[in-house]
Amino acid sequence: MSLPALPAPPTLRLNLRTWLLGLSLLTTLPLLVFALSVVWEFKEFQQRALVEQLERHSDELAHAVAEKLHSTLGTLNALAESDAALAVDVPSLYAHAKRIVARDPDIRAITLVTQDRILFLTAAPLGRTGMPVNAADRVEAALRTQSPNVSGPFSSPVSPIQVVALTVPLAREGEATYALRGILAVESLNSLVAAERLPKGWIAGIADAEGTVVARSHDAARYVGHRASASFRQGILATGKPTAFLGSTLEGTPTMNLVRPVFGFDWYLGMAVPQTILHAPLAEMLWHMAGLGLLWVGLSLVAAMTFSQYLLRQMKTVARAINQTSEAPLQSSTPLRVSELAALVGKFHATQRSEAAMRGDRDVAVIAREQVQDLYDHAPCGYHSLDQEGRVLRMNQTELRWLGLPLAQVQGRAYADFLTPTSQQIFQERFPQFMREGHVKDLEMELQRASGAAMPILVSATAIQDTQGNFVASRSTVFDHTEKKRVQAQLERMARSDALTELSNRRDFYDKAEHEIARSHRSGQPFCVLMLDVDFFKKVNDHYGHAGGDDVLRQLARLLVAQLRVVDMPARFGGEEFAVLMPGTPLAEAAHAAERLRIALQATAVALRDGQEVYITASIGLAQWCADDTGIDATLKRADAALYRAKATGRNQVCIES
Ligand code: GH3
Ligand code: MG
Ligand code: MG
Repeated sequence: MSLPALPAPPTLRLNLRTWLLGLSLLTTLPLLVFALSVVWEFKEFQQRALVEQLERHSDELAHAVAEKLHSTLGTLNALAESDAALAVDVPSLYAHAKRIVARDPDIRAITLVTQDRILFLTAAPLGRTGMPVNAADRVEAALRTQSPNVSGPFSSPVSPIQVVALTVPLAREGEATYALRGILAVESLNSLVAAERLPKGWIAGIADAEGTVVARSHDAARYVGHRASASFRQGILATGKPTAFLGSTLEGTPTMNLVRPVFGFDWYLGMAVPQTILHAPLAEMLWHMAGLGLLWVGLSLVAAMTFSQYLLRQMKTVARAINQTSEAPLQSSTPLRVSELAALVGKFHATQRSEAAMRGDRDVAVIAREQVQDLYDHAPCGYHSLDQEGRVLRMNQTELRWLGLPLAQVQGRAYADFLTPTSQQIFQERFPQFMREGHVKDLEMELQRASGAAMPILVSATAIQDTQGNFVASRSTVFDHTEKKRVQAQLERMARSDALTELSNRRDFYDKAEHEIARSHRSGQPFCVLMLDVDFFKKVNDHYGHAGGDDVLRQLARLLVAQLRVVDMPARFGGEEFAVLMPGTPLAEAAHAAERLRIALQATAVALRDGQEVYITASIGLAQWCADDTGIDATLKRADAALYRAKATGRNQVCIES
């Protein structure tokens, strides 16, 4: 089937491939948002983890530094409380200190100092005094507060290394004049915060309360003794719980920093994580995402191209199937427009719908045909079709049932074969007329049933013609005429008979008389009319009642039939008056018959219903029809006159017309 051509070119000139690509990209939007939120969460998580790491590592290192200082402090305290120290026995104290320095590798030297000069230095021979005190303010503070402290870095007076001094005052009777100092190499502190002990890339350092670098994990030689970075100093000045903050190192590297005090001393441990490390996983993730995104776009493009090509091929097949024509086919080189695709799909659906509708129509048609067939077969009347020769083409079940034959035994045979001989004649006469006129109405015939019985039918038919007016077949309806015929016959009988005696009535008598007159005219044979009237019938009625009178009349009728010949036709004219038509009978013969009748009547005892018996007589008048009689009335008149005479002259006698 062909459908209307594709609609006008679409206004939106995007091809299918672009649409598909756009769609696939659009679907990535929620994914992108989701990925970004994940990245953000990841970044937060990463930062928290790093801060926790920073706190843990810096705490460990601060403890390590404090431990080292406390260990040295312990050694110095023991020395400060020795007898030699209490007695300020300098040579003894010197010897003692020398032994300690030899034993403890962390302590480079021990000095005994006053506020402004060195009394001995284990790294130098005893007696070589007068050297100025380094970090003299720390000595002064220790003596004043009578509590130990630690200095910032300074150059050793005896070797070219950087050192720090842990000063412990020697208390004598509540006042301090001397102090012992443990000299620690900055190098040993550097090793505490060495890069190897830190996670890769991290930086750590120690600074004193003034913000001077004491030790450092990187470039210690360059920075020790110098001012720490602004961030470190800011951390030193901050109070409260140490928290991580963003800043930068002395080298200018952006970092995240944490500064915490070294417990028990006026030193601070700073630790920094370069922000590059902080952001590295995030950056890596973003790169991955970008890569995946690009891959997605690439795959989408390939998929869109492949799928659109595939769709185009499929649609061309569909379009061919729908159109079943090569007109305006889709070019494989032309990109398929979405609107064209939509039009095709719409068209495809329309085709499906119309096919479904057709299928539905066909189903309805099949059902309708079955219903019509059912009606045809089981209608209350017979249906058949005959060809131009009068042979049966079709016949419904009703008529077949009437015939008592299956369709196979009927089809192709002459319809006349299934009629009674009389009806066959009628059929043969009327069929040519039907063929000429094209219709026949209420043709009365009789079916000859397979059982042998005849069935009255009433046939009407019209001719089915083709467009040229040629006869194709007859369309005949056949009605069962049995009942109608029976009723008709009964009515006819009733119309012609007398209800009481069942003899012919006056009307029937007249009809038959007409017939007889005609016959006599033809044959010249005579016929007579007999008139009979019961004598004194009133008395019968009076004596036995009207019902008794009726009984008498009925039996009189039977007697008439019994006494007369078969050809004679008795009729009741009314009351107790009867007339008899006696065909082929001359007057003399009729007179004999009448006399016989009269005698039989008077001799017959009429039995009544109640058991009583009645004897009756009748007077009879006779007349013969003659050719001059215009109708039967003339003859009847003469017979009546004879009857009158019979009555008048004594009754119970037969009188013949004069
Ligand atoms: P006649 O000898 O002169 O004929 O005397 P009749 O008594 O027979 O007189 P008529 O013929 O005039 O009277 C007929 C009577 O028959 C009158 C009526 O009562 C009676 N009759 C007429 N028709 C019927 C009928 O159908 N049944 C009965 N039981 N009586 C009838
Ligand atoms: Mg009478
Ligand atoms: Mg009478």
